[in-house]
Amino acid sequence: MGIMSVKIKRENTFDAIVIGSGISGGYAAMELCKKGYKTLMLERGRMVEHGDYPTAHDDPWDLPNLNMLSLEEIKKHYPKQNRLNWWVRQDNKHWVNKDDEYGYDEVERFDWIRGHHVGGRSIMWGRKCYRWSDLDFEANQKEGIAIDWPIRYKDIEPWYSYVETFVGIAGQKEGLPQIPDGVFLPPFPLNCAEQYLREEVKKTYPDRVVTPSRQANLSEYNPEIHLGKRGQCQSRNRCIRGCPYGAYFSSQAATIPVAEDTGNLTIRPNSVVAEIVYSKETGKASGVKIIDAITKEEIVYNARIIFCNASTVGTTAILLNSISETFPNGLGNGSGELGHNIMDHHYGMGAVGVLPNKFEDKYYQGRNPGGFYIARFTNLDETTKQENYLRGFGYQGSAGRLANIPDGVIGKDLKDEIFKPGTWQIGMSCFGEMLPYHENKMYLNFDKKDQYGIPTITFDAKLRDNEMKLREHGVECAAEMLNAAGCVNVRTFNDATAPGACIHEMGTARMGHDPKTSVLNKWNQLHEVPNVFVTDGSCMTSSATQNPSITYMALTARAVDYADKQMKKGLI
Ligand SMILES: Cc1cc2nc3c(=O)[nH]c(=O)nc-3n(C[C@H](O)[C@H](O)[C@H](O)COP(=O)(O)OP(=O)(O)OC[C@H]3O[C@@H](n4cnc5c(N)ncnc54)[C@H](O)[C@@H]3O)c2cc1C
Repeated sequence: MGIMSVKIKRENTFDAIVIGSGISGGYAAMELCKKGYKTLMLERGRMVEHGDYPTAHDDPWDLPNLNMLSLEEIKKHYPKQNRLNWWVRQDNKHWVNKDDEYGYDEVERFDWIRGHHVGGRSIMWGRKCYRWSDLDFEANQKEGIAIDWPIRYKDIEPWYSYVETFVGIAGQKEGLPQIPDGVFLPPFPLNCAEQYLREEVKKTYPDRVVTPSRQANLSEYNPEIHLGKRGQCQSRNRCIRGCPYGAYFSSQAATIPVAEDTGNLTIRPNSVVAEIVYSKETGKASGVKIIDAITKEEIVYNARIIFCNASTVGTTAILLNSISETFPNGLGNGSGELGHNIMDHHYGMGAVGVLPNKFEDKYYQGRNPGGFYIARFTNLDETTKQENYLRGFGYQGSAGRLANIPDGVIGKDLKDEIFKPGTWQIGMSCFGEMLPYHENKMYLNFDKKDQYGIPTITFDAKLRDNEMKLREHGVECAAEMLNAAGCVNVRTFNDATAPGACIHEMGTARMGHDPKTSVLNKWNQLHEVPNVFVTDGSCMTSSATQNPSITYMALTARAVDYADKQMKKGLI
């Protein structure tokens, strides 16, 4: 071995490698760096520093076409990303992958919505954070669905508190066992119509609680706790563009700067991880192979421990592509479950209604990054049991004053009228649980490679009977609640979305007790390769109804703590 190759090898060797820089990758890197590990964070997308948010200060008149994209642009670049029609706009399109650059195939429609850049979807997310409970962790076992979770609420509870403290979650304690209270900052209060909804719904349905959304936005900034580049939320409602105040939790504002402050972090953007390299001699992974996205050069980085956080689909694709004599079907895939059991939440159903003759003298001051939430209230126990479906749904919603656009008026009269606020409208959208089905899957197409020579991904997953029945009840209950609050013109909607559309995809490398039926153990460690950990959404054994990212963060912090102890004992 020559001097040159020794030098290259040393430069390419770290204590730890984290694949991905989004919500879970940022957390993994921060925790590893804080524990003293020299950590390499590999991210396939471009570098984005905190503050590189090009539209953050744009006013409505700065954004072409009233912030909308032209049909031509949607057709060319975002035909899949914008299937929901509301999502890709002028102010956020730079965060969204172009479909013509990052293709994938579908046996059944799957809306794989994502952005490749440092920070991943931590810049783009809606920031809703709800704890899971034992209702969720025990459900598979009690109902005989798929496999049992290898953990219970008590295992993750201290880690929720740990991450919530750092992340900063605005929320209101309600004592609801299905969404346990956490470490909360003051809530962003409900506006008068939302508060009214809360009170009226409670009168008719005491178990349906309208609560302020639990949001990873700093309603109260504490520099001692909210480390990094954080600041007070200004309620500008422009979160989707990236926050120059660092007021919501993102890798840029929170985890990356804290990791950098330790002096232990190296970020390598434009690094497309193709596979994890397995050593038969040691029975462990030795490192990862990347393709430089700009030069197309292949480089191998080595480390003692690898955290996979390339998002559910990204991580599973890397593992499926990591083929060796020992693992011909993908790294750690002895169970054959890798890529299967893909889940998402499903939505597109709910109700909207108008609140007549109420609060006409009231407008709300400032804005609110959240709205309201109604936690699951079906199938909690025998009294709320539903005969025709399992699990349940929650709602996200808000109330606001409609625009006043009168018919048949022009000129000055029209101008005078449109400056008056319209009636109050309340809307709520249902988020349903999806069961884990072995038949719902993603897999690699080894005959069709992408621009980096990596096999492309195909999805074959759909909503099934349980989801369809649950949706009908979700719509019915939304209408009931609006009617209970005295709304008129209540309109229901039920436009079944495809998996992926809720952007909570998960489950493709599930945790479990048994290596024969699961990919990861209770510490998010590959059963078969002890120095590889997976702590993004692919680890999930069921989907619950709650937005999942705070659970990924808690599992990540817990797994790093475990990995650290194992390494100190010399076991990995
Ligand atoms: C509009 C929107 C609203 C959302 N709202 C919420 C919400 O309210 N609450 C909630 O809990 N969740 C929400 N989510 C989902 C949330 O963003 C994801 O659950 C979360 O970001 C997942 O974290 P992650 O670390 O697994 O993946 P990501 O944050 O997606 O990060 C993965 C990173 O890995 C990189 N990567 C992928 N493949 C490779 C590779 N081969 N090599 C190197 N790097 C790779 C990607 O480029 C990306 O940067 C929302 C998402 C969107 C888009």
